[in-house]
Amino acid sequence: MTARPLEIKMFPCLFDNYGFLIHDAEANLTAAIDTPEVRPIQDALARQEWQLTHIINTHHHFDHAGGNLELKRKTDCTIIGPSMDQQRIPGIDVAIDHRQEFKFGNHEVVCYHTPGHTTGHVVYHFVNQQVAFVGDTLFAMGCGRLFEGTAEQMWSSLQLIMEWPDETLLYCAHEYTQLNAEFALTVEPKNLELIQRKAEVDSMRSNNRPTVPTKLGIEKKTNPFLRPNSEEIKINLNMTHASTTEIFAEIRKRKDNF
Ligand SMILES: [Zn+2]
Repeated sequence: MTARPLEIKMFPCLFDNYGFLIHDAEANLTAAIDTPEVRPIQDALARQEWQLTHIINTHHHFDHAGGNLELKRKTDCTIIGPSMDQQRIPGIDVAIDHRQEFKFGNHEVVCYHTPGHTTGHVVYHFVNQQVAFVGDTLFAMGCGRLFEGTAEQMWSSLQLIMEWPDETLLYCAHEYTQLNAEFALTVEPKNLELIQRKAEVDSMRSNNRPTVPTKLGIEKKTNPFLRPNSEEIKINLNMTHASTTEIFAEIRKRKDNF
């Protein structure tokens, strides 16, 4: 028997975060992916008439785990999070490691450790559903800032994500897409798919539509952080003889100063 698709609800939180609820109707399980803000999560649960059974955390930042304890107190939910950040993410009940598999109801999930934005950051790949929750590791046409990790670590982390199928829907945690597109064009101005995507994103945002989720396939074609091998980028950065990691680091540095 094939499992019924996972239901996913996305809603804005704080200034530019997205909150996510996932629901397995057969098993009657509902998880919040991170807890940026309690009230919008509770409102979304009420709208759907779902009971929160789990919180699944990507990393320790307050706009991702700040609502953990209040929601746990209110719902007695189980908190799943990276073993490496057990000291920093409040309330973890089930700690998981790199490449560890677990089941959410009928859905297989694989956790990947993706250091870079923080040292303990993890992402969750719902394998059969071809959906992933990538926190602040990857954004549409962008990637997370290197608050704790190195460029080398982040590039390795992004390469793990790039091994998934192109159809994979990536749910990233912030609406940064429009500015990311502007930056992307500064390093790869002749990329036709990027030019076209930028126009689409501008139109979506002018209608106040979310640009999340994104698909891995289009990210590979337009996200400069997945493209340090692009000839155009290498030439523009004057780095035709540099290593891929050095080019990645330079793109990240330029974005930090953009
Ligand atoms: Zn973060």
